[in-house]
Amino acid sequence: MKKEKAVVVFSGGQDSTTCLFWAKQQFGEVETITFDYGQRHKLEIECAQQIAQELGVNNTVLDMSLLNQLAPNALTRTDIAITQEEGQLPSTFVDGRNLLFLSFAAVFAKQKGARHIVTGVCETDFSGYPDCRDAFIKSLDVTLNLAMDYPFVIHTPLMWLNKAQTWKLADDLGAFTYIREKTLTCYNGIKGDGCGECPACHLRKAGLDTYLSEKTAQGADA
Ligand SMILES: [Zn+2]
Repeated sequence: MKKEKAVVVFSGGQDSTTCLFWAKQQFGEVETITFDYGQRHKLEIECAQQIAQELGVNNTVLDMSLLNQLAPNALTRTDIAITQEEGQLPSTFVDGRNLLFLSFAAVFAKQKGARHIVTGVCETDFSGYPDCRDAFIKSLDVTLNLAMDYPFVIHTPLMWLNKAQTWKLADDLGAFTYIREKTLTCYNGIKGDGCGECPACHLRKAGLDTYLSEKTAQGADA
């Protein structure tokens, strides 16, 4: 795929930055697209722009503020708390978000002459988001091909990885330290290891600790 071009759906977080490193290894040319939907932290957009610049790829920010108009949620509104009740979708879920993002990414990609779209969605640490599931991605891939008569391929390198395995992939790509220090996952807008208290930080740290302890154990075996 070295002669082909890919567009990475890019938020500046751990997962999409890992996808960006992966895409740079797989494809001859890579661009990134970032969605501004009124995130709690403008820092997220700045972080994405900075990483794209440092890694030498183009970044385009698309205004998706209409998403907040359609469906106010905890990712965009500071007056809505981030919560997750047993058996319910977390308050960070936005109906149709990935459907919309990937559809816009496809329109953008076709304009740019790219047929490959890379996204960091994942079914393993399934937080209940229906449009992160593999079945949905495969269905959308078919739909996008039919909608635009264009041979899109949606790539989901993290789909079956848990958070520890995502750290391992980053390490295998030579990007472990970069991703640990430069990416923003924290709901409180703190880069790197974050605030340590929000659900996103807990998930990220649990995966990191697991990966580091596995790595240490393997090192001891060798
Ligand atoms: Zn945090």
